[in-house]
Amino acid sequence: MIKQITCVVCPMGCVITVDGEGDQINSVTGASCKRGEEYARNEFVLPVRTLTSSVGVIDSDRCLLPVRSEKPVPRDRIFDCMDILKNVKVEAPVKMHQVIVPNIANTGVDIVACAEAERMDV
Ligand code: SF4
Repeated sequence: MIKQITCVVCPMGCVITVDGEGDQINSVTGASCKRGEEYARNEFVLPVRTLTSSVGVIDSDRCLLPVRSEKPVPRDRIFDCMDILKNVKVEAPVKMHQVIVPNIANTGVDIVACAEAERMDV
């Protein structure tokens, strides 16, 4: 199988062609640097994405808390993760980088807070 991948590591946006099957790669062409070649290899075998979203907050001045995955998750698990996050409500106070959902969808990746949420007593 031949796959064309646009490298997003830098703004050059090289189009890299990967020829392979499953996790076996026969050739990688079109990359202008090693980082791009590495990106294309990973993207061919197991594409990953950093997940960003927001979750509800209870007893806070904000009603939504921005969150992200502390490292990229497999692209084919993004919807499983989003399904979990849509039902998450965290209680204030929340610290920056606090783990909100550990090991989301058994991916081995934690979802962490991207902002703080102060507690607002009602
Ligand atoms: S292959 Fe290298 S130069 Fe090209 S877009 Fe990727 S990182 Fe940039």
